[in-house]
Amino acid sequence: MELLKRAKQLYDVNQILELEHAIEFASTAHADQKRDSGEPYINHPIFVANKLILWGMDIDSVIAGVLHDIVEDTTVSLSTIESLFGGDVAFIVDGVTKVSKASADMENLTNYLPQTKDNLSKLLIAVGQDIRVLIIKLADRLHNLSTLKYKSPEKQQKIARESLEVFGPMADRLGMGRVRLQIEELAFSYLDPVEFKRLKNLVAKRLGKNSRQLQEVHQEVEKTLKEYGIKAEIDSRIKSIYSLYLKLQKYNNNIDDIHDLMALRIIVDRKEDCYLILGILHSLYQPIMISRIKDYISTPKPNGYQSLHTTVITHNKQIVEFQIRTFEMHEFAERGLAASFHYNEQKRTKDYKSGRPSSTLPNNMQWITQLQEVVTKLKNGEEISRDQLQIDLFGNRIFVHSPKGDIYNLPEGALPLDFAYLVHSDIGKHAYSFQVNGKIHPFDKPLQNGDIVEVITRKLSLPKSDWKNLITTTHARNKLRTQLGHLGLMNVIDTSKMIREKTVRNIKRIKIRPRRKK
Ligand code: MN
Repeated sequence: MELLKRAKQLYDVNQILELEHAIEFASTAHADQKRDSGEPYINHPIFVANKLILWGMDIDSVIAGVLHDIVEDTTVSLSTIESLFGGDVAFIVDGVTKVSKASADMENLTNYLPQTKDNLSKLLIAVGQDIRVLIIKLADRLHNLSTLKYKSPEKQQKIARESLEVFGPMADRLGMGRVRLQIEELAFSYLDPVEFKRLKNLVAKRLGKNSRQLQEVHQEVEKTLKEYGIKAEIDSRIKSIYSLYLKLQKYNNNIDDIHDLMALRIIVDRKEDCYLILGILHSLYQPIMISRIKDYISTPKPNGYQSLHTTVITHNKQIVEFQIRTFEMHEFAERGLAASFHYNEQKRTKDYKSGRPSSTLPNNMQWITQLQEVVTKLKNGEEISRDQLQIDLFGNRIFVHSPKGDIYNLPEGALPLDFAYLVHSDIGKHAYSFQVNGKIHPFDKPLQNGDIVEVITRKLSLPKSDWKNLITTTHARNKLRTQLGHLGLMNVIDTSKMIREKTVRNIKRIKIRPRRKK
């Protein structure tokens, strides 16, 4: 079997034996079931396990991938799985089962109504305890999307919409760019097939005209880099239909304004070479706008994406975007968090088992810690509003810096106190005033991406009850509540609905509607 051949290069002999056992066990359990396509059911979990191996996941995840539908779809119980494959595998399978149950009843997160709150809680609790559950769900969703044509039109719409609203953004948040792309393209092709086809044809026409010229640019750059003695891999990437669709809405549907329909990607060994190449490109070609030069290496995107971007006019008057990055950055851009299981399996697995996110999680993954806080609240039976969830989990994120240069990740619209509490609860507690980019900054003015934020503390300065209107994150709210409680100011604290609603209005939400034809 193809899967086992690949697995043998990654896992040791005992792990392979266990994997074989799992496949045998799952084949028997699903023996009398078929997929809607008429295929034997076992093909589905095998596909999922295969993906997990390709993504370099640890063996527990792969085995859980093989077993992921057993508890839900057969008479086999979770305790049987636990006795046969151990507690860790059972824990992950349980999580995947809970997510499936939750999302089966849930229209989608953005429309969720009070009566589905319990399911939403299940989803978050399942995911929050072990991020591997989510990665398995992504593989599962990918296969369900690729066999979507066997479902009824109503089901197709529902699954496609949910994929774009929940699973695409989740993959993006995990930095799994390639998976996000696959999910989005498949889902969008079902959600709006007419528009999908139209854009596809439009892109094909454009590229047909330009691809020979682009080939010349490719060769010219290759030759130049060789002269400088830089070893680089150059390839071209075509913009996905769904991201083109989103971008066109921003640019009044004018495809002439889209300059990154096709981009050239330059991948090198060392970070220094990225900047060197940027310099070389700019001396070879005219960059079209300084604002189009993006240094995501020194300031990564909130999901960890790193690369240099620049758009230039070439000698044959073509506008071309270049993306320059190292192999390591490229690997992360494609595989995201999944990649780190492969590199640092032991450590991470251990930390995730304890139910705590690893303290070595990169800064851009701080949202996982924040997810856990939301989960804890739900577990304690506390109310959490949909709007607060939007802010914490699905809103856009910004990066701000401490004066020392440490990077912190916050939701868009976050206020200075959110930053202070994220740095340390004592910093929040004694916050007296703020300096942003060297200037005094009021408590109620949102931070911007890239801001350098300094918290001025005073030993005698203490939290005030109206601070509850000056924070937006669950994290800060929790800390403040505790501190006010200690100070005897607790009675005034109630979730300040008004402020939250105001903040939410500022948060861009993903809205997917079929485009109206003009
Ligand atoms: Mn499944």
